[in-house]
Amino acid sequence: MRKVAEGGKHRCNQCRSIFRWPSDLKYHIAFSHNGEQLNVCPEATCGQNFQFPFQLVNHQRTFGHHDWQIVCTVCNKLFGSQRFLSRHTQLACNRYKQEQQEQGQDSANM
Ligand SMILES: [Zn+2]
Ligand SMILES: [Zn+2]
Ligand SMILES: [Zn+2]
Repeated sequence: MRKVAEGGKHRCNQCRSIFRWPSDLKYHIAFSHNGEQLNVCPEATCGQNFQFPFQLVNHQRTFGHHDWQIVCTVCNKLFGSQRFLSRHTQLACNRYKQEQQEQGQDSANM
């Protein structure tokens, strides 16, 4: 049995994306095709939905955003302190803006 060599072939039959693990495929289908919310930030003011559990973990670890008050007026990203905002580069700002737009488009398409 050479199961491992044949791995990485979990194909979504709706959009042909390929995933390495069956669980990744399951999360992908729930997130992209079924509109299920499996990995939602439990914070009431946030409620962001993520495709994979690790994204939610990252979000909760690095974002800590739920008490954050400092906001970038360009991209609306929140920061824990003025110091973090001052390290927020133009590049990061543009990237964040773009990510937000892409997320918005995703949900608009559904
Ligand atoms: Zn798919
Ligand atoms: Zn959150
Ligand atoms: Zn910004």
